[in-house]
Amino acid sequence: MNEQIITVTNLTKQYQETQVSGISNISFSIKRGDIVAIIGESGSGKSTLLKCIYGLLKPDEGEVLLNNQRVKGPDEQLIPGNTEMKMVTQDFSLNIYAKVYDNIASMLSNTDIKAKQEKTMEMMEHLHITKLKDKKIIELSGGEQQRVAIAKALISDTKVLLLDEPFSQVDYLLKNQLRADIKRLAKETGLTIILVSHDPTDGLFLADQLLILKQGILLQNDKPETIYQNPSALYTAQILGNAVVLDAVQANKLGLKTQKQHVVFYPEWVELKSTWNSRRFEVKEVYYKGFYDELLLERNGVTIRALQLNSGEHKKNDHVQANIGRFLAF
Ligand code: ADP
Ligand code: MG
Repeated sequence: MNEQIITVTNLTKQYQETQVSGISNISFSIKRGDIVAIIGESGSGKSTLLKCIYGLLKPDEGEVLLNNQRVKGPDEQLIPGNTEMKMVTQDFSLNIYAKVYDNIASMLSNTDIKAKQEKTMEMMEHLHITKLKDKKIIELSGGEQQRVAIAKALISDTKVLLLDEPFSQVDYLLKNQLRADIKRLAKETGLTIILVSHDPTDGLFLADQLLILKQGILLQNDKPETIYQNPSALYTAQILGNAVVLDAVQANKLGLKTQKQHVVFYPEWVELKSTWNSRRFEVKEVYYKGFYDELLLERNGVTIRALQLNSGEHKKNDHVQANIGRFLAF
């Protein structure tokens, strides 16, 4: 069997002729069983890309292959979409007055009632929603509804799960749980997952492969660690982490030499120690973050951020020696 489950080639979809909207000329492939995260600011084309992959939208150009078969567009079949893929969107598309169990079971045929029951119960256990079995959807929280939607999507032998902004409606704790669940599901079932988000922490934690979209263009496609450490554009660094961005004039005031317009580094790249090339900064603010502090440091009117792993080591108005150990220029 082919290692790649999905291959996207030169995919283009423009909504308007006059201005840039949608996606243009996107190509990449996805390995079977991988979790792929597509990250980009609002309007960057994430949902458009997902809908084209699923076959809900007809691309202007290019094609999507699922197991070497071209995914059909909405004009080529009676029911748009694909039987081997399922898409869970923010509205969940559940029957809100029906019970959890019935929502999920409704996806299976009645030819073998016992098998249907077993499979439904098994899927509910997978997603930790067994105790919600007899509740109506309307009685559930956003996070619980989401679990039901995912269970419903997965029960009919789905090979590829598409999730559009899956964590946008859930609180922080649940978000962490759901992320862990999705990761576990992928490992346990061999499911391939494509998830779209504007929140980078979703993708970095989960994904085997990360795609960065900007104005409909695929800027970078690699492992999350690689992209985080080596962002190819200012946009990528900004969207991925709490990068510090300085213009060339500011950078110069800190002794960072560059011919480019911007200098970018992460707070964890700032070394708080006295070395031959460290410089004196004033601590303007200390933000307590639990096991570490984030420090706001200033020198020559330029403010940067740094991490202090021993929480409480520095106080406001202290002076510290800091060296920007690594930076990128764009
Ligand atoms: P994202 O999901 O990343 O927020 P979308 O894929 O929804 O972005 O949209 C990408 C761009 O295409 C945006 O500029 C959006 O306004 C435009 N767009 C999306 N859907 C339509 C549509 N049906 N008609 C016209 N423009 C659209
Ligand atoms: Mg969207």
